[in-house]
Amino acid sequence: MKYYSTRDKNNIVSAAQAIAAGLSPDGGLFLPTAIPTVSQNGLKALLEMDYRERAVDIMGRYLDEFSADELRSFVSEAYSDNFDSAAIAPVRFMDDNTAFLELWHGPTCAFKDMALQMLPRLLTASLKKLGESRRVCILVATSGDTGKAALEGFADVEGTSIVVFYPRDGVSDVQKLQMTTQRGENVFVCAVDGNFDDAQTGVKRIFGDMDFAKKLNGHNCFLSSANSINWGRLLPQVVYYFSAYCDYVNSGKIKMGDEIDFCVPTGNFGDILAGWYAKRMGLPVRRLICASNSNNVLTDFISTGVYDRNRSFYTTISPSMDILVSSNLERLLFMLSDDKTTAAWMDELKTTGKYSVGDRVLADIQKDFACGYCTDETAKKIIDDTFKSRSYLMDTHTADAYGVLKEMRERGETFPTVVVSTASPFKFADSVLDALGENSGVSGAQLIDRLTALTGTAAPAPLSGIGGRRVRFTDCTSKDKMQEVVMNFLV
Ligand SMILES: *Cc1c(COP(=O)(O)O)cnc(C)c1O
Repeated sequence: MKYYSTRDKNNIVSAAQAIAAGLSPDGGLFLPTAIPTVSQNGLKALLEMDYRERAVDIMGRYLDEFSADELRSFVSEAYSDNFDSAAIAPVRFMDDNTAFLELWHGPTCAFKDMALQMLPRLLTASLKKLGESRRVCILVATSGDTGKAALEGFADVEGTSIVVFYPRDGVSDVQKLQMTTQRGENVFVCAVDGNFDDAQTGVKRIFGDMDFAKKLNGHNCFLSSANSINWGRLLPQVVYYFSAYCDYVNSGKIKMGDEIDFCVPTGNFGDILAGWYAKRMGLPVRRLICASNSNNVLTDFISTGVYDRNRSFYTTISPSMDILVSSNLERLLFMLSDDKTTAAWMDELKTTGKYSVGDRVLADIQKDFACGYCTDETAKKIIDDTFKSRSYLMDTHTADAYGVLKEMRERGETFPTVVVSTASPFKFADSVLDALGENSGVSGAQLIDRLTALTGTAAPAPLSGIGGRRVRFTDCTSKDKMQEVVMNFLV
């Protein structure tokens, strides 16, 4: 399988090159030149498999450069007892028509683990195939979840180092503790005196600095990225759509071949795009519901075909969805138009903050996607109501999705739906406590104990006892000294 860029179809690379590069040099994103299909028999075969075997089957269809043995060894490392559920991505039924696909049983308690436990394996194997002998340094600016998941994925992985920058006052107490107590000899974590944009701008500046790249090269190092523009992060996410469908069939609540909906809390459009690939591969999905918070740029886009980022930015209780530019949307646009058109839209987005896809592409989008958004107020009510009536506790991002689904059901029919649950409620314990009416005045690790006491639900092991762990990283840098931080750590 070959890959090409969303902005130039003639820029063709191997899977290993696409994964090693992350972003295409023309500014586009890499995607596969064809979409493999899974037949009914292929789907039936998946029913009998566990999550790891399903992952080898689905990912292997896109990665023919990698042998089945290689993939099996990556998968058995990525999805093992680092997850606290043997199912890896368990499906919990609330009723016959409503299931929650819990993607937060990994080491950092958010769905980013599904991809970031796999990416380091794919990346190091890709570098080997390409004959790369230099050390790769993963550079990350994070608003919370990605940084910790990338740290945990790359910790002590041979041939790699990772440096994570987070905004000093821009992450939750729990997220900060998760990062500053990170284990591993090859990791470094540093606060930035500024907001997320300052951290992100600083990281982009380092990536674009050719002198710095030369200096690193002199030390046998080069930089790479672990964010969701990398195909190696998207592909592992296709697996759990297949897995959830199989679990639904195995539950006896639907028959093989029946369609279902997926409702997905969306920020960068990476998670839901993986669902779109699953549908294109032949998974019986009726539609994908794109759920946003008050930063509802995607709701407007899917309703009107006009993407317009010129609007107020809201800080919400679902911070991992506080995004106005959804990078992975570019892959969908390319699939529904072509490289020249996509490049022109992305150019308009850059210069005017806005573009319009026209009626034909909009109609194609609306065939596969429905959309809606949920306010903080509604999300809190959903968390409280669902816990009190059904004893099911969900986090703020999952509540946005469930809120959108419930509203659609009030207006229309009820269809079998999997709600994609992206974080443990304990990871956003402050907002979840608030939603439950327990504005408790505690902070840090105490929030976790408080939520445990209140709900009688044990916190996931990686979060319980986090307050007793040694803080390893206390550095804070000004935004113009970030390069020095990277250099000092690497050499
Ligand atoms: C990253 C994240 C999302 C959004 O996922 P995208 O792939 O960016 O759409 C939703 N919920 C949580 C908890 C996340 O960490």
